[in-house]
Amino acid sequence: MSGPAYARTLAERARAAGATIRTNATVTGWAGDRVIEATTPQGRIRVEARAVVLATGARERPRSARLIPGDRPRGVYTTGHLQNLVHLRHGGVGRRAVVAGAEPVSWSAALTLREAGCRTVLMTTEYPRPEAPFLFTVPGRIFFGTRVATRTRVSRIIGRPRLRAVEVENLDTGERRIVACDTLVLTGDWVPDHELARLGGIALDPGTKGPVVDGALRTDRPGVFAAGNVLHPVDTADVAALDGAHVARSVLAWLRGRDTPAGQVPLVAGAPFRWVSPEVVRPGDPAPPRGHLLLWSDRYIPFPRIVVRQGGRVVARRRLWWPTAPGRVFRVPAGVLARIDPEGGPVTVGAEP
Ligand SMILES: Cc1cc2nc3c(=O)[nH]c(=O)nc-3n(C[C@H](O)[C@H](O)[C@H](O)COP(=O)(O)OP(=O)(O)OC[C@H]3O[C@@H](n4cnc5c(N)ncnc54)[C@H](O)[C@@H]3O)c2cc1C
Repeated sequence: MSGPAYARTLAERARAAGATIRTNATVTGWAGDRVIEATTPQGRIRVEARAVVLATGARERPRSARLIPGDRPRGVYTTGHLQNLVHLRHGGVGRRAVVAGAEPVSWSAALTLREAGCRTVLMTTEYPRPEAPFLFTVPGRIFFGTRVATRTRVSRIIGRPRLRAVEVENLDTGERRIVACDTLVLTGDWVPDHELARLGGIALDPGTKGPVVDGALRTDRPGVFAAGNVLHPVDTADVAALDGAHVARSVLAWLRGRDTPAGQVPLVAGAPFRWVSPEVVRPGDPAPPRGHLLLWSDRYIPFPRIVVRQGGRVVARRRLWWPTAPGRVFRVPAGVLARIDPEGGPVTVGAEP
């Protein structure tokens, strides 16, 4: 299904289920625990709900947040900005691009650039190997003629008013060189759109930077839930959609008066992981969405051994046959938590080669 067809299908299903969809509406804040305020083309509205689901997604950090020095020319985009320009507004970009990042979304940017008649001459990644699986990288090299420079960052932006080149730096040798290009796409480096959670005083996880949730996707505010990439930047669209089905069951249970189970065990990301989602498990709750814990690794380990510890004791060890790799979500079957003690305090999930 194409993206627009997929979006239309979901919108039709939501309407058929009785939802009112307000487009061009921005939720600006809270006027109570489950009361939101929004700005719409028809004016400001206030909606009081028995349950609220935050599903505000994630975005790529723009140039300013990445602190790349240099000129401020035209021709610098994030993938979201680029795809909006090319697919929705049918605007043109340049002819020769550098893409910062080598994640799956970076290849999505390269595809969009190709559609707009622009060749991706170089991709850069600060990691020792491309983040995207070789299924992206090998055909990308053959069909797009795109080289991936590892351990490399964009260190300067050059050109005014239009981009002329970027300077790239090898992080191991410190060597710098100039690459001529008229388009730069900054990909990956995700951050959840967590502003509403923050405004509402809902607990945020310093690792994911999204709201802290349990396996039922409840936040720490009763009746407020969160789902999709606001929780785990960034997973694929299918996973975000399935989070929706999972959270719907939790919302229905809440509306029917089911209480949150007492007691909770915090989950903590151990090396090489940056974060784990959900951050809390509750005895008596269903397994997390799709029966998996999601984690984000800073290190490539081809066949990692997962080690789960509680109170200094190893409670599970399991070899998995898929790699931990920077730039993509890593999934661990939630069964590794089967032997944790509900009263035993925080549980750390780590991995070793
Ligand atoms: C540029 C880009 C390309 C991607 N390409 C792919 C791909 O090719 N394949 C893939 O599987 N995944 C891709 N992804 C991952 C993508 O994030 C997921 O596919 C999916 O869209 C995430 O779903 P979500 O429901 O969590 O959030 P989103 O789909 O991002 O939806 C969040 C929604 O919340 C709205 N919102 C945010 N704040 C407010 C507010 N205050 N008030 C009102 N509305 C608000 C936003 O406008 C948006 O409509 C891509 C992501 C990006 C950014």
